[in-house]
Amino acid sequence: MDFSIPDEYAEMVSTFRAFLDREVRPVEEAFLRELQEDELTPQMKEAGLGLRRRSAELGFYAAHMPEEVGGWGLSNLGYTLLVEAGASTGLRFATFVLGPPNPESPNPILMDLPLEVRDRHVPPLVRGETTMCFALTEPEAGSDAQAIRTTAVRDGDAWVLNGRKHFITNGANADVAVIFAANDREKRANGGITAFLVERGTPGLTVGKQQRTLAGDTNQAELVLEDCRVPPEHVIGEVGFGFQSAMKFLNSGRAYIGAMCVGIADHLIRISVEQARNREAFGRPIGKYQAIQWMLADSAVEVHAARLMTYHLAWLVDRGDYPIRESSMVKLNNTEMVGRVADRAVQVFGGMGLLTEGPVERIFRWVRMLRIVEGTSEVQRLIIARSLGL
Ligand SMILES: Cc1cc2nc3c(=O)[nH]c(=O)nc-3n(C[C@H](O)[C@H](O)[C@H](O)COP(=O)(O)OP(=O)(O)OC[C@H]3O[C@@H](n4cnc5c(N)ncnc54)[C@H](O)[C@@H]3O)c2cc1C
Repeated sequence: MDFSIPDEYAEMVSTFRAFLDREVRPVEEAFLRELQEDELTPQMKEAGLGLRRRSAELGFYAAHMPEEVGGWGLSNLGYTLLVEAGASTGLRFATFVLGPPNPESPNPILMDLPLEVRDRHVPPLVRGETTMCFALTEPEAGSDAQAIRTTAVRDGDAWVLNGRKHFITNGANADVAVIFAANDREKRANGGITAFLVERGTPGLTVGKQQRTLAGDTNQAELVLEDCRVPPEHVIGEVGFGFQSAMKFLNSGRAYIGAMCVGIADHLIRISVEQARNREAFGRPIGKYQAIQWMLADSAVEVHAARLMTYHLAWLVDRGDYPIRESSMVKLNNTEMVGRVADRAVQVFGGMGLLTEGPVERIFRWVRMLRIVEGTSEVQRLIIARSLGL
């Protein structure tokens, strides 16, 4: 057994870190006031998209995508390391320069499109010139995603979609949407759900309400489909098997979410240790008190375990396994872990931990979201329990 990070990945991560320091950090510093107020102004968005295109030029942004569409075909472990490195800087703009786990970045499910459609839509996504969204959830179908009610009915030369999606990240701005619809509700995932690529501006596709959450401006919206006609060549993969196309990348996606949690937790531990060294109470730095030491020691143990689990999951994916149990374990463990680490960080910072312009409050709210999105903690437990034979 060899726990060392392969040299080529260590070099790649160090080049990526240098890019973050050299090009992303100055932009972050230019927007410090807006960031403290948890704003995402149009100027910030433009600056972020500029950094994204730069990251794409350097190859990082869509490194997870296959070479034939302009990516690097980077392994799951390789991208996992990039995601962890980005999150551990604590830079908000780092989320712009990495693709997954951000659902607006190119998703490998698009490789299942017919060649001509793929080659028209995927390279601009890979170059960071366009964005997408992944529209599965509906008001009546979240955890039980196979119960979606949006219908897809074949009518002559097109599929006609009708229904409503909600909580769709980047739904309001995406150039293309991957939309899941039921071609046969009885069959559910086994022949009953199809994935479609729908271009922005297609008649019958409109954006509904914008949805703001506890986590801040995370960019969710409703999508409304009313007699939206989609050409048959925009079916992703096979008719009735859209769910299977999406599931192929479920495990690698969960490694990326796991890595993001590890990176954020690392950042929180680092700033908490700094605070514990510098903040004095009763004549000594608070880090000299065992109560504070233990909180940070517990966080260090938990992040170490989470990191090992994440790398192991990535290794299994790269080996060609389909590690559904391990990916649920990572999603469950790491999202809950980062919640506990953030809670302790608030405690170490005291009142500063609750202050909206402080360094922890926004992260505390943001990481709360991670236990809900992309399969709740309960759903992960259900999958793990199933693997135990229950
Ligand atoms: C910020 C944000 C971004 C999102 N982005 C996207 C996106 O880009 N695309 C997209 O398609 N969706 C997106 N979603 C939707 C997200 O995936 C769903 O919110 C999530 O899957 C949970 O579904 P739900 O909200 O309908 O909750 P429900 O399914 O109604 O669950 C409610 C509660 O019941 C529990 N529960 C449900 N079933 C069981 C069970 N069998 N056993 C035990 N407990 C159970 C859940 O764990 C939860 O605690 C996003 C949501 C948010 C908040």
